[in-house]
Formats: sequence, structure tokens, C-alpha cells
Amino acid sequence: MSSPAIASSISSFASTLAKHEVTLARGETKVLQLNLGKLCNITCTHCHVNAGPGRKEIMTRETVDRVLEWFDQYRPETIDLTGGAPEMAPDFRHLVTRIRELAPETRIIDRCNLVILNEPGYDWVGKFLRDQRVEIVASMPCYSAENVNAQRGDGVFDRSIAGLRELNGLGFGKGEPNYPLHLVYNPGGAWLPPEHAELQEDYKRELKKHFEITFDQLYALTNLPVSRFAAFLRREGSYDTYMELLASAFNLGTVEGLMCRNTLSVSWKGEIYDCDFNQMLQLQLKDEAGAKLNLWDVDPSKMAGRSIAFGNHCYGCTAGAGSSCSGTLV
Ligand code: SF4
Ligand code: SF4
Repeated sequence: MSSPAIASSISSFASTLAKHEVTLARGETKVLQLNLGKLCNITCTHCHVNAGPGRKEIMTRETVDRVLEWFDQYRPETIDLTGGAPEMAPDFRHLVTRIRELAPETRIIDRCNLVILNEPGYDWVGKFLRDQRVEIVASMPCYSAENVNAQRGDGVFDRSIAGLRELNGLGFGKGEPNYPLHLVYNPGGAWLPPEHAELQEDYKRELKKHFEITFDQLYALTNLPVSRFAAFLRREGSYDTYMELLASAFNLGTVEGLMCRNTLSVSWKGEIYDCDFNQMLQLQLKDEAGAKLNLWDVDPSKMAGRSIAFGNHCYGCTAGAGSSCSGTLV
């Protein structure tokens, strides 16, 4: 699979970079983002992973242990766990516990959908994350029930609020450096996120006023035209308009901070990519001979300077204030 084609009225991402005389190359690898699989307990319309309850792809114990061996050798600053619902991977606890044992100060992030906290069989999640000092980055695309349920499914808003209350009760999201809780906003359709500072203020005010909930930061993300969100755009006939919107909002100032410069994205099988979106588009990293690479084939200190596999989907990261797994870029 390659990066999506675009209407002839839009310049390709490659020609936009060339016009501005910029290249896209990897820098120092600081973040190892592990996609533990496509299994999830909900099915969101914007999901770029096509995750859901019926998916079987999941990282095995053997792969987890190979990842841990690599981690022990190279020790990246941050481990970022995503999925699917990463907590549904059978060896999630083994992975996190072992990283903590090997390198107690490593920053570990769990990309949590909140509803996993009250899914039968997962009542251990909140306490486990607290005991292991895991930073939580939680999806919460709006502070209104109607918008959240439309995007993520009936009942998800109430379950997310219950999840946030539990996390606050465990000490997350109260400004404590060991227990951060950040929320993630993404638009409900084919538009760019609004101005970040104002949106964060709205979230803080509304969640406090109606639910007594607090959190640390809001990350505003742009929906990338990949997988389920791309299919959604095509179904509603807005794919070309959305690509035009992203391309016309290209912001050169975002290029320096793109997450693909310092992140190595790993699939449930151990394959490596420049980012999770490239993973979904199967743009796997290759060696000079063209052989596809797995995590255990690479020394991250030798990856700086490698070209990044970019494509038209990258307009999603460079539009407006930019977008990354940690929110806006400028
Ligand atoms: S967006 Fe997240 S929570 Fe929603 S289906 Fe995808 S992986 Fe699951
Ligand atoms: S999608 Fe974003 S993070 Fe991934 S390669 Fe493109 S610009 Fe980089």
C-alpha cells in the first residue's frame, strides 16, 4: 500500500517539500512507539488503525521479549504504547513491568481509550498504570456527550467520564509529575482542530464544571486521511476537499518538529516504520538492499540522516499548527 493519491489540482507533498527546498530525514531516535496490535474494545470512526473488537493482530510474548532485549541494549528515552487498546495485549503488564525494572526512569506512555478502564476483566488497568508510573494520554474528542458518542459509539462518553473520575481518584491529572494525564482532541470530521490554547481552556472549564474532572494538558490532533478515516471521507464524498484543505494549510514551520524525525514506530510483528501512519500504509523501513527491517535489525544510533518515507498523507501533520502524537507542533 502506498500513500494516498490526490486530485491533480493539489501539489504532491514531495513537490511542496521541493518547492521549499526542505528534505525530510530522521534525527536522533528518542521515542520507541510500540503498536501492540489492532484489538480494541470500541470502533471509532476516525481510527487510522482500523482497530476493533474482532481484530486478531496482537504482539506475541516472543516479540515482546525481542523488543525488551532491544530496549535493554539501546534504552530510548521514551516508550510510547499504542494499539488498538494497548492494555488488551496479553503481555502488556509483562512489558511495562520489565521496562520499569530495566530502566526505572524511562518515560512510559500509555495511549488509553478510557473505556478500557470499565471493560469487564480490565479493572486492574488504572491501579497498574499508577503503580508503574505510566503517563496516560487518553482519547477524549470532545467534552460533550453527543460529539463523543457520534465518533466513538453509544455510551462511550459516560464510560469515558467514569474512567477519568477513576484516574483522578488514583491521583492522575492533578499536576503531579509522576502521574500525568493528558487528553487528546481530534476533529469529528473533515476540518482542522481549532486554536489550541482556547480549546484547552474550554475543556478544563467544562470538565471541571460538569464532572469535577481535572487533567494536565490537551493535545489537539489532526485526523490523517488513512485507513478508517480515509474510508469515512470517501463515503461522505469529502476526501478531495479535505486533502485540499490540508495542502492549502501547509505550514513550513511544522517540518522541523515532525514526530517521524525522532520516533521509531514498531508494529505488532516487530516491523519498523517512521510513524504509526506509515505503518498503516505499510511503508516499512528497508536496508540498502531493499530488505524490510524489523526492530532487532537496527542500531538506532545509525539511523540519523535516513530519509523518511513521506507521502501525501503527511499533509495532515504539516497543516496549520501541525500535528503529532503530542499535539500541535508550532
Ligand atoms: S481510535 Fe483508538 S480507541 Fe478508537 S477504535 Fe481506534 S484504537 Fe480503538
Ligand atoms: S505522516 Fe506525519 S509523522 Fe508520518 S512520515 Fe508523514 S509527516 Fe512524518
